[in-house]
Amino acid sequence: MSPTALTVLPRGGPARSTEADQPAGSAVPHGRAVPPPGERMTSMSLTFPVRTDQLTALRQVIEQADRQTRAHGLAGCHLTRGPVETMPWPDINGVPIGAVASQDVTVTFPLLQFEGWTVIAQVEHDPAAGSVVTALPPYEDEAAGRIAHCDACGERGALTSYLLRHEDGSTMQLGTTCAGPYANLPVAVLGDLWRLIRWCTTVEPYEPGEVPPDLRLHVDQVLEYAVALTVQAGYVKRGEGWTTAEQVRALLLGGAGREVLGQLYEHLRAAGDVAATAAAVRDWCRRGVTAASDYRRKLARAAAHDAAPRDIGLLVSAVPMYLREAQRQLKAKDRESITATVTEVSPLASEWGERRRIRFTDGAGRLYAWDSMTKPFPDEGQRLRVTGRVVRNALREGKVETYLTRCRVAPA
Ligand SMILES: [Zn+2]
Repeated sequence: MSPTALTVLPRGGPARSTEADQPAGSAVPHGRAVPPPGERMTSMSLTFPVRTDQLTALRQVIEQADRQTRAHGLAGCHLTRGPVETMPWPDINGVPIGAVASQDVTVTFPLLQFEGWTVIAQVEHDPAAGSVVTALPPYEDEAAGRIAHCDACGERGALTSYLLRHEDGSTMQLGTTCAGPYANLPVAVLGDLWRLIRWCTTVEPYEPGEVPPDLRLHVDQVLEYAVALTVQAGYVKRGEGWTTAEQVRALLLGGAGREVLGQLYEHLRAAGDVAATAAAVRDWCRRGVTAASDYRRKLARAAAHDAAPRDIGLLVSAVPMYLREAQRQLKAKDRESITATVTEVSPLASEWGERRRIRFTDGAGRLYAWDSMTKPFPDEGQRLRVTGRVVRNALREGKVETYLTRCRVAPA
């Protein structure tokens, strides 16, 4: 991302490396002085957004450049930070899945000058890319496409050179070994200063597939994915294969192949709108804040605000827990709607015609039964959307089994 603002400071800008916090809510000054006419610009400021976790790396390149510039009698390098803001974090498809802390920073550094010349770009030979140009933002177009060479000694090819621009608009390039003797430019300052400038002009607050350490995920988004996959594909716990938690993580943060992801998106589409169920799971999690169970209290904490990526597994595990809990709470005449697989079709004694007991299991492992006279009877293994009225809950092999009546069924 290119710096969003750029200011040139007059001689006598910040002389020491200092760092200042802007009070929250105040505007970021983009370098406060415009030089009087005729006075030469000796410093430059770049303002751009970074994630808060990227500040450590920025401070390191600033400190290194600052040591070198001050050791050579130049002004220091200086960082000013704007107020911390919340930057939305999208997934690879642009869907907002969370947020990270970010802020606008302004980096001020001295310009390297020599008798009317100013260093405006670094041109580096790269065996793979040819020449890599890092230019001060006002001169990007002017420096684009330059090939590394040295006008002083005529060297070309594998070298690092610097592009200088004279006040009269003419340009020249000097290789690292000639910059000192020819233009009195200290090589160590050039290297460290340009490392800083490259950092500032190429830093990206957002990279697809990256997981910043302070990324916080929207709990509702995590739970919607978890509900959709549980309902549609069945909950997969640890030890049973690619777990539902890992699938949700792949949807949110990437790290899975295109084909596999395509399959997951297929499940999401097929599951339809699960926002209401996800909201019910979230509320159930939050109600556990005073629960006796350590697990429920942990869930309540994870679901209270945006969640850390390490909490994905915990949150996803709440979905089958909630669904089984919701099943236990069912009462006669409640309306229940599930997507389930037929596990058994067995004949029942009947005085009025053919009757079958049809048993289902849903994605959360819940058991349902329906004594049906509705033909055609389904086959074992069929996946159906079933909507009916609750008759009663019974216990079967240690699990709750819900008997339904007057069911409407449709292929899932
Ligand atoms: Zn040279």
